Amino acid sequence: LIQPAERMLHLPTQFFANLVRKANEQIAAGHDVINLGQGNPDQPTPPHIVQALQEASTNPLYHRYPPFTGYPFLKEAIAKRYKEDYDVDLDPETEVAILFGGKTGLVEISQCLLNPGDVCLVPDPGYPDYWSGVALAGAEMVFMPLKEEHQFLPDLSALREADLKRAKLMFVNYPNNPTAVTAPASFYEDTVAFAEKHGIVVASDFAYGAIGFDGQKPISFLQTPGAKEVGVEFYTLSKTYNMAGWRVGFALGNRKVISLINQIQDHYFCSLFGGIQAAAAVALTGPQDSVFQMSTLYEGRRNALFRALDTIGWQAQPSGGSFFAWLPVPKGRNSAELADLILQEAKVVAAPGIGFGTHGEGYVRLGLLSSEARLEEAVQRIGKLHLFD
Ligand code: PLP
Repeated sequence: LIQPAERMLHLPTQFFANLVRKANEQIAAGHDVINLGQGNPDQPTPPHIVQALQEASTNPLYHRYPPFTGYPFLKEAIAKRYKEDYDVDLDPETEVAILFGGKTGLVEISQCLLNPGDVCLVPDPGYPDYWSGVALAGAEMVFMPLKEEHQFLPDLSALREADLKRAKLMFVNYPNNPTAVTAPASFYEDTVAFAEKHGIVVASDFAYGAIGFDGQKPISFLQTPGAKEVGVEFYTLSKTYNMAGWRVGFALGNRKVISLINQIQDHYFCSLFGGIQAAAAVALTGPQDSVFQMSTLYEGRRNALFRALDTIGWQAQPSGGSFFAWLPVPKGRNSAELADLILQEAKVVAAPGIGFGTHGEGYVRLGLLSSEARLEEAVQRIGKLHLFD
């Protein structure tokens, strides 16, 4: 009786659901599983933000429908943060959209801009939610390979003219999930010039913008001259303030795109609970020490992980940002086999690279989402399998 609409059939399969199921089987069998497979921050939200929610939750104003595009004070708070952190000017009313997590905007932008037959340029490997939006819009994806020999940046000059003629949107994401590299300013300058030349809108996913290592502060796409004319940036509180469960994100930049995103949001969400918006504003305007502490914590874990990897002969390029490590699979195996093997034999969950696209094959992703001691233990357990001798 119940037949899904055709667009549902084009949605990507939930590759990682399988991974979670297998890991849960191991846990149910009583094994001590170290789960480094998912991207869920393991630290609590800073107490002053939680307290702000507690206080705001009793305000009857917030028990009513919020303004459809969210409270102006939250838009002002994110604009202020971008000014302070990146010296980027944003008009809170026209250049900011409040999202139900960054994820919704990343899916909605494709629905706002793409018709069937249009092309979206998508990084491969990349965050699978980009695919979902393109699929729901009935548009086509052209993958931009991210290769180690090209610092995991897309080679814009390698894209085919025929694809570029139909391309309307492109995703870029640095600090990158899953390869954990950051992008230099020159990459964004090239991207703006490329977008202007070909009439393509840029969607910069800056979810890991607050997590850069070795003294390198990640660059925002919006810092690039001309960026606001060609695109928007997606920002989220999920990682910056350990607020993944709160679902607060933003689209920032080009006012035409922001207006379209607000239009579509209005139909789906009517904005977030006002108490959450109030606490989110406190996160953005209050003390920022926790952001530095969070990034430092991941850097310490990155150092511990790569030191441990060295001792077992697993050589990889150290992560420059984000909370991931992108590690090459030993010769003679593929990423799904390796992930299965280390789950079965070492009780460590890793995300196989193939889950992020064809060019993710040959790698697995580990999350820096357990303590240094647990990360070291995970590597020691993998070392006992002698995969790198
Ligand atoms: N973009 C990337 C690359 C991510 O890894 C994530 C979350 O894991 C998001 C966006 C979305 O974050 P949220 O929806 O929590 O804002």
